[in-house]
Amino acid sequence: MMDALEHRKLTEALLALRKEQYMSLIRAMIKTYRGNGYSRDKLSRVQKDRLKELVRYARENSPFYKGLYKNIGEGFSLEDLPPVSKPELMANFDHVVTDRHVTMERIDEFCTDPDHVGRMLDGKYLVFRTSGSTGNPAVVLYDKNCIDVSSAVAAFRTFARHEDYKAFMRHGKKTAGVFANYGFYLACGMSRYLQLKMPRQQTKITVDVNAPEAQIIQELNAFDPAMLSGYPSNLALLADYDELTIHPDVVITGGELLTDNVRRKLKDKFGCYVQTHYSCTEAGEIACECAEGHLHINEDWVIVEPVDQDNRPVGYGVLSDKVLITNLANYIQPFIRYELTDRIIVHHEKCRCGKNTLWLEIEGRTDDTLEFENGVKIAPMSLYKILEEKKCIRRFQLIQTGARRLELRLVSDQKEPGFAEAKQALLAFFMSKGVEDLDIVLSDQPPQANPVSGKFKHIYRAEKTEKTGDGSLS
Ligand SMILES: [Zn+2]
Repeated sequence: MMDALEHRKLTEALLALRKEQYMSLIRAMIKTYRGNGYSRDKLSRVQKDRLKELVRYARENSPFYKGLYKNIGEGFSLEDLPPVSKPELMANFDHVVTDRHVTMERIDEFCTDPDHVGRMLDGKYLVFRTSGSTGNPAVVLYDKNCIDVSSAVAAFRTFARHEDYKAFMRHGKKTAGVFANYGFYLACGMSRYLQLKMPRQQTKITVDVNAPEAQIIQELNAFDPAMLSGYPSNLALLADYDELTIHPDVVITGGELLTDNVRRKLKDKFGCYVQTHYSCTEAGEIACECAEGHLHINEDWVIVEPVDQDNRPVGYGVLSDKVLITNLANYIQPFIRYELTDRIIVHHEKCRCGKNTLWLEIEGRTDDTLEFENGVKIAPMSLYKILEEKKCIRRFQLIQTGARRLELRLVSDQKEPGFAEAKQALLAFFMSKGVEDLDIVLSDQPPQANPVSGKFKHIYRAEKTEKTGDGSLS
């Protein structure tokens, strides 16, 4: 059922388009708006229909998928389709895409010009590259439909609470994102695309996450945004500065896991609601947060399968080893049962917010699972909790630099005592997991974000590669 506010959202979105003939966007808006009210049965029918259509299109237009599905009959179900991985799709890029004029060679050429960020290749496709902070970046194309669905989902599902949306509208929709403001990243590319489309609507700025803090603070203060977005780790750092005096209506983080501690810290600093969402370049907007703090899957546009190492479904309420995603909106570069390394738990319990969609929890997001001799694996979340509990530690970063060696980067109120305490707690924990003879050293470096993407990992393995999908240590 639509209430008055929902009506207004739709009317406003459509009015904003009145002078333009964006039929594709209007169609995406209407479909997405309707999707908000679908029952579970209807969602499952819509998923099946959209999957069938995408697979038909992929088979007809992508030599890669045609070959991959050669033994798949017409009456297939999702589980019959073989999963695909990033190395596989990138190695076969020219055969994966559904437009024979598009090649990796042409994209490489296109991307040499930074002015092409947010502009369309052949007037048809936006080109994105993932940060690839732990390995090779992925190249991802969005066709018009995929762009429009992203915009529609953003318009209708971004805000967890109606009151924040109302305040945001009242304050002129001024949005500041602290991201990498250059390069072919999703946030940067989409934001430039919209700016180029609507040059007179300057309600959005991107502040370079890698700029000096003083400059970021000055730009944010001067713009005075109604919505602040950015990576939680970076916003938490900025929150330490008294000089930052903005009062946004809402803070929306992305790109990394938003922990309860950081959520509280940002709420205290900015005095507003703090929320997150779950997206990636390949799948688009996977899940949006509701007022209950649950991440609801956008099931009408993306299929999310939590699976174990061997791609078997793990079921509801169980932590997965990885996720298979199917982007139902992208026809130029189909991602069908595509492996993501995120670990999630999918819930089917009815949420008190009233939405019918499944919701999920994410573990660790961008952090790595550490691996030791004799096959012991340690999930990042347990280490995160140990280090976060140490009150004297303000920031940390734990890096596995060898089979038996860890390096701890710290910013603490008193450096040495913080390290000794953390080291002891970590060694005790590793011992309990059967990892002995570990060397944990204090780094002379402070914690650092990836110098290119600006994304921060609390826990990672050095020299991890994504070529094999599971990484290796030298
Ligand atoms: Zn909910």
